[in-house]
Amino acid sequence: MVVENRCFKESSKGWFSAKSRPFIGMVLALVMAVNFAPFQVYAQGDGQRYFQRSDASQPSYTRADSLRGGVTPERAWWDLTHYHLQVAVDIEARALSGVNRMQYRVRESLDEQTERLMQVSGVDAADVILASNTGRLQIDLQAPMQLVSALQQGRSLEVEQEGSAWFISGVDTGLGLHAIDLVFEGQPLVAANPPWDGGITWQEDSAGRPFVASANQGIGASIWWPNKDHPWDEPDSMRISVRLPDSLMNVSNGRLLQVEQHGDGTHTTHWGVVNPINNYGVNINIAAYEHFSEVFYGLNGPLSVDYYVLPENLEAARRQFAEVPRTLEAFEYWFGAYPFYEDGFKIVEVPYLGMEHQSSVTYGNGYANGYRGRDLSGSGWGMEFDFIIVHEVAHEWFANSLTNEDVADMWIHESFTNYAESLFLEYHFGWQAAQEYVRGLRFAVSHDRPVIPDYGVNERGSGDMYYRGSNFLHTLRAIVSDDTLWRAVLLGLNQEFFQQTVGTEALVDYMSEVVGFDVAPLAKQYLMEARLPVLEYGFRGGQLRYRYAQVGADFAMPVDVTVGILSDEGSDSEVFSELRLVPTTRWQSLDLSEVMDLGMAGLALLVAYDESDFLNYKRWNLRVEPDFYVGALEVNPGEKGVD
Ligand SMILES: [Zn+2]
Repeated sequence: MVVENRCFKESSKGWFSAKSRPFIGMVLALVMAVNFAPFQVYAQGDGQRYFQRSDASQPSYTRADSLRGGVTPERAWWDLTHYHLQVAVDIEARALSGVNRMQYRVRESLDEQTERLMQVSGVDAADVILASNTGRLQIDLQAPMQLVSALQQGRSLEVEQEGSAWFISGVDTGLGLHAIDLVFEGQPLVAANPPWDGGITWQEDSAGRPFVASANQGIGASIWWPNKDHPWDEPDSMRISVRLPDSLMNVSNGRLLQVEQHGDGTHTTHWGVVNPINNYGVNINIAAYEHFSEVFYGLNGPLSVDYYVLPENLEAARRQFAEVPRTLEAFEYWFGAYPFYEDGFKIVEVPYLGMEHQSSVTYGNGYANGYRGRDLSGSGWGMEFDFIIVHEVAHEWFANSLTNEDVADMWIHESFTNYAESLFLEYHFGWQAAQEYVRGLRFAVSHDRPVIPDYGVNERGSGDMYYRGSNFLHTLRAIVSDDTLWRAVLLGLNQEFFQQTVGTEALVDYMSEVVGFDVAPLAKQYLMEARLPVLEYGFRGGQLRYRYAQVGADFAMPVDVTVGILSDEGSDSEVFSELRLVPTTRWQSLDLSEVMDLGMAGLALLVAYDESDFLNYKRWNLRVEPDFYVGALEVNPGEKGVD
C-alpha cells in the first residue's frame, strides 16, 4: 500500500461540529479562517556550543568517565580504518580469546569534528601532538577481560593499563596505514538484563544446545573485545572470524565470506562488512541455527535478506518475518535506500529482546506483534506490527548509517527510530494510524531529566529520547505542515550524513536549512529541558492573550490553535477559527474581531448585537491542535471576556 496523500489540516476538522448545537435560533455555517503569522527566524547564538550544557548543578565525573567518553589525546591523532576481530569461543568456560588486528591511519591534520570533540573533552592540540610524537594510543577493554599483549610487525609494544583504558606506546606514527595486533582473553561480563545491561548471554535452546549472543549498547563493545570504544571514529570496514565447535554456527555482521574447517571438530566462520560500522553494532550470535533467505527488490536493486533462527522456531519465523520486506519498503520510502546493500540484511534470533546490530538485526520478540505482545502506544496500532522488526530495522538508517558522534546525542538514534514506527504505520495504514500511535506514546513520557545529558563522559540521556523525542519530530512536522518538505528532510538527513557520525548541532543545522527556519531553539527546549512548553492564554476585552511558559528566552515555536465561541450552555459552538500563533515568553494579544471571520454566522448575529459587542460578551475557548506536543493552560477560566 502506498501512503495516502492528505491535507495536513484535515484531522482538526469537526472538533466543534461534533458537539454542534443551534445558536441564536439557527444553525450557523462553519466558519474557518486559517491565519498564518509570519515565522520569525532566529540567530543561533554561539554556534557549535549551542547544545553544550553549562549547568552548574551537573554531576561531577571521574577520569574514567572522560577516558571512556572523551576524545582523549591518545585517541585523537589516529583514524581507525579496519578491524579484523578473530575470536575463539569456549562455551563451557564462558570465555573468549583472540586477536583484534586493528588498522589505523595517522591523521595529517585534525578534522573539524575531532577538534570540536577534543574541545568538549578539554583536550589541547599540544597534548595530541605529544601523544602522536611518542606513538601513544588508547584502546579500551573492560575487566575481567585482559589485554594480553599488543604487537606491531612482530614487535611487542609497551602497554599500560588504567582501568578500562589501555595505553599502548611506541606504535608506528609515520603517515599511512599501520596495523596492531591486540591479543586478548578472559571471561566477559555475563549480561544481567540484555540488551539494556549488556555483556554476553549464555543460554540453551529447547534441545539443550548452546544459544549465545553478545549485546553491548551503553556498556560498550569493549566489554568483550578490545577496540577504540568511542562512537565518533568508526572503521571503514571489518572482518569478524569466530571459531566454534562444528555443531554450532556463528552469525555476525555483513556477509558470510568463508567457513574454514580445522579438522579438529571446530571451524571458523568469517564474516565481512564493507561499510563503516559502529562498535556497539558488532555482534556474535551462536546457535545451531536454521537458515532461510529471500530477495528484497528495493531502491538499489536486489538485497539479500537472510534469516537465522532456532530450529524449533522455523515455522513461526517464516510466518512472522513476512514483516521484513514491508518494513524495508516503508523505510526506503521515507529515508531512502537501505544503507548497506553490499553487506546484505539479516535477522538473527537471540535469547534477548533484540538490538539494531548493523546488517544483522537481532530478534527475540517471541514471533508475535507488539512489544513483547503489548502495544506501547495504547492506541491499538502497536499490535499491527512486530515492534522489534520495525524499530530495529529503522535503526539501520538512524543509528547504523547515521550514528551519534557522542553517546549524549543518542536521541538521533532513538527519537527518529521511535518516530519511524509511526511512519511505518502511515505508509501501510494511513495518517490517522500514525498520529494516534505517536500521540499515544505521550503517556510514556516521564519528563524526568533532559534527553541530552553532558557531553564527553559517555553519559546517556533520559529514556524520554524515545517518546518525547518522537513527539518533538511530530511537532516539527506539524509546524512544517508540508508532507513533501517533511519527507525531503528525512531523505536529506540520510543523504547528508550517510554512513557518518554526527552530532546534534550539525543535524539540527541541516534540518533548519531544509525547513527554512531555525530548529535549534526548539530542539534545545525539547531535548535539553525536562519540562514541556506550556501555552498560557486567556480572553479579555475581545482579545486573545497568549505566551509560552516553561521555555527558554529564544523559544518562539509556532503553534496551531482553534479559537471558538462557547454556546450559552458552555459547549462548543460552530463559530470558530483556526489560527497559527507564534507565541514567545512575552504576552501577545490578538483582536478576536480581526481573526473571527463571522461570514454567514455574522448575519444571524446582527439580529441581536453589533459585532464587537457580540465578541465582547461571549465566552471563548481555545484548543491546541493535537499534533503539537505543547501543554495549554487557560489563565482566566470563567471570565466572560469583560474588563
Ligand atoms: Zn532503539
